Amino acid sequence: MTRFIDIDSVGKLIEQVGIDLFLKQLEDELIANFKQWPDFEKSARLASHSEIGVIELMPVSNDQLYGFKYVNGHPSNTARGLSTVMAFGALAEVETGYPLLLSELTLSTALRTAATSVMAARALARADSRSMAMIGCGAQSEFQAIAFHQLLGIDQLHIHDIDRQAMAKLQRNLAAYPQLKVSAFDSAAETVRGVDIVSTITADKTWATILTDEMVEPGMHINAIGGDCPGKTELQAEVLHRGKIFVEYEPQTRIEGDIQQLAMDYPVTELWQVLNGQASGRDDDRQITIFDSVGFALEDFSVLNYLYRLSLEHGIGQEIDLTPQLDDPKDLFALTRNKSHQHRAA
Ligand code: NAD
Repeated sequence: MTRFIDIDSVGKLIEQVGIDLFLKQLEDELIANFKQWPDFEKSARLASHSEIGVIELMPVSNDQLYGFKYVNGHPSNTARGLSTVMAFGALAEVETGYPLLLSELTLSTALRTAATSVMAARALARADSRSMAMIGCGAQSEFQAIAFHQLLGIDQLHIHDIDRQAMAKLQRNLAAYPQLKVSAFDSAAETVRGVDIVSTITADKTWATILTDEMVEPGMHINAIGGDCPGKTELQAEVLHRGKIFVEYEPQTRIEGDIQQLAMDYPVTELWQVLNGQASGRDDDRQITIFDSVGFALEDFSVLNYLYRLSLEHGIGQEIDLTPQLDDPKDLFALTRNKSHQHRAA
């Protein structure tokens, strides 16, 4: 039997565990897996592009488990009442190929992206960081805000979106966190002035320049989330030239990240190397650090593993017959015999 976790079950698990602890445990899972980076078989995700969006498959495995995610990115979807990003995924046993888990990953992608952003900021941002600007107040934004507030101690949040309703929604949803002071601004430039961390989480299938050179101040950490497809960027190229750049998996980020604007040999550091002490992170307090995030399969593998354990522990989720259970594995044809029909004939 394969475990099945739907949206409702993830919601229940978050309710039982509490979103703050959920994000913390997920960050721990991510750190543990990123530290094991060389043990994983990795590849850049397989993307199928259309004029208005992309559909991607993201596999990764170690010697025990294989995971993959199906995910789309369609910035124009929200105008149709659909999400920009939707996902599901699976976890399987390498030894037999048996699928252990089939899970929703839309909600879980937002959670793993927020936990990954915090993991990167913990390693790269100035340790005294307390304020963050967030440009883009869509589906990902609450998760990022809560993760940075609860796990990293951010207590001042400046927000901006071209959609005022999205800003109001974010403020409403963050009202449950009275220690987090949220201020809304009319322009991106005002939003980022004087903050320690800047998160860009916009969706537009275009060469956007959400953050320009003159907006970036010494010592800032930039958490760039929304530039994650060929021809879809958020940072002006000059910003990239001013900072030290960190990526998830370099072969994928060269194609999809903001660094697609740079020469292919422009130096970048993979985050896992900083996490396990093989490379330096921030060199001094005035350095600008940039996490050019596109989302990597190991992050989904981590959330799938975490969900699988939680689901069994809390008895939330269900077992489904995704693959056959046969008395004789060579007699697959037996499944074509309609049991109720046989019963009637008998
Ligand atoms: P969403 O469509 O729900 O929200 C995006 C928001 O950006 C919208 O509210 C929109 O009004 C705003 N926006 C667009 N252009 C803007 C601009 N010029 N200035 C200010 N605001 C602007 O999308 P989402 O699910 O929140 O995802 C946001 C982005 O993050 C997408 O591009 C998505 O592909 C990306 N993403 C990346 C990762 C990762 O791992 N790096 C994971 C999930 C999503």
